[in-house]
Amino acid sequence: MTRNVKIVATVGPASQSEETLEQLIQAGMNVARMNFSHGTHEQHLARIELIRKVSKKLGVPVGILQDLQGPKIRVGDLATPLQLSDGERVYLYATGSTPPADAGQKIPVDFRQLFDSVRPADRLLLDDGRLTLEVVSVIGRNALAADVVIGGPLSSHKGINLPGVRLRIAGFTEKDEADLAFGISQDVDAVAISFVRSAEDVKKVRYAMERFSNGKRLPMLIAKLEKPEALDNLDAILEIVDGVMVARGDLGVELPPERVPALQKHIIRTANARAKLVITATQMLESMISNPLPTRAEASDVANAVFDGTDAVMLSAESASGKYPVESVRMMDRIVREAESHFVEWGLEPNVNGFEHSDAASMARAAQALANDKNVTAVACFTTQGRTAWLMSKIRPRVPVKAFTPDEITYRRLAFLWGVRPQLIAFAHSLEEMLDLLDAALMRSDVVQAGDQVVLVCGYPVGDVRPPNMALLHTVGEN
Ligand code: PEP
Repeated sequence: MTRNVKIVATVGPASQSEETLEQLIQAGMNVARMNFSHGTHEQHLARIELIRKVSKKLGVPVGILQDLQGPKIRVGDLATPLQLSDGERVYLYATGSTPPADAGQKIPVDFRQLFDSVRPADRLLLDDGRLTLEVVSVIGRNALAADVVIGGPLSSHKGINLPGVRLRIAGFTEKDEADLAFGISQDVDAVAISFVRSAEDVKKVRYAMERFSNGKRLPMLIAKLEKPEALDNLDAILEIVDGVMVARGDLGVELPPERVPALQKHIIRTANARAKLVITATQMLESMISNPLPTRAEASDVANAVFDGTDAVMLSAESASGKYPVESVRMMDRIVREAESHFVEWGLEPNVNGFEHSDAASMARAAQALANDKNVTAVACFTTQGRTAWLMSKIRPRVPVKAFTPDEITYRRLAFLWGVRPQLIAFAHSLEEMLDLLDAALMRSDVVQAGDQVVLVCGYPVGDVRPPNMALLHTVGEN
């Protein structure tokens, strides 16, 4: 049985060797995420080159997702970890400025603009919400005094969230811009933007992409949904992105955690209805950072994302810095496959009628109807830019979608999509040539055998590279 939901695994220090990358791909990693909150360009470059090398060697497409840090406020360098006690007064100051002279523990902060945005009584959540501070007063332009409401240990570079505070900071930082230029020079397949608040934030990244890409095909653009403002602007954001990520780590700090499950369902349903890619992320197998097996609750969480209709599920520290990166991918693969075998009973079918009124969407719906009616084994798409396979995926046919493309970029991008199995193939100039290529490729694949029926979707005349306008019922091996 093949797997439909794709696995995104973050590659980091625990998983960057050639041997581990090979095991990750064999275990089921479809997309490798590079987290630009950590690591140098040299480290990311070495990882990208190795992933592409191993992917080619194994003949398995692997997409590269560049995740930009965005305006994440972080604790600066601490000489030693601090222990903050409830009720204690502490002082935050901009890294590089002189800390206030008052007695009390001092916490450097990477973002000077923080001090322009907060007021007395605002709450600061540190380390994914584990610690809470309440602002007492802002001191000049570079510091503030705060009381510890919930204390605990604090170490360097932990994140700081300000739920409910409208930050006067750019959504796309200088660091993001330099990282994006690097990512585009390496032909990453998708770029995720952190802390998106509005469609304007996304547009800034798109303009920068256009500047850096020199006419090359732009990477897919994915908005990470982790701010309440982004949820208010979801429709406008979905209009201009290729996909979204349910970034539950920060979302569950910016909003109360009890709101995350229903928001996840809402985001997945809305994205699917617009034919946008949707990735569900963070803490999916969190305990596997240090244990070889997940908790039952984590297994349930991954399965529920599958039932909600996500295209992909994501691993963060589990695969980047944990003790069991390969086991985490294997476990995710097992949970997803088991959940998918129960999708008919428990899964939420997307509404396929609303999303697009193009010829391509009509052909995808026709192919779906034909596939259901004739009990075919697979849908086969010939696609150059990947649009036909994308729409086919979003319609969620009950059979695998084999996507044949002569285009290497499309081949890697389709690795992100639910149910799509991309395959590189020579360019076909006629329908006969296409059917010959299709038969040869399908007979070599594990999903179809000679005599099976498949639905072929393509543009006709074949050599003209047209949007799809033909769906054909074909018996494999009969051409
Ligand atoms: C998240 O917050 O859920 C997320 C994916 O972002 P990051 O891992 O970059 O903090």
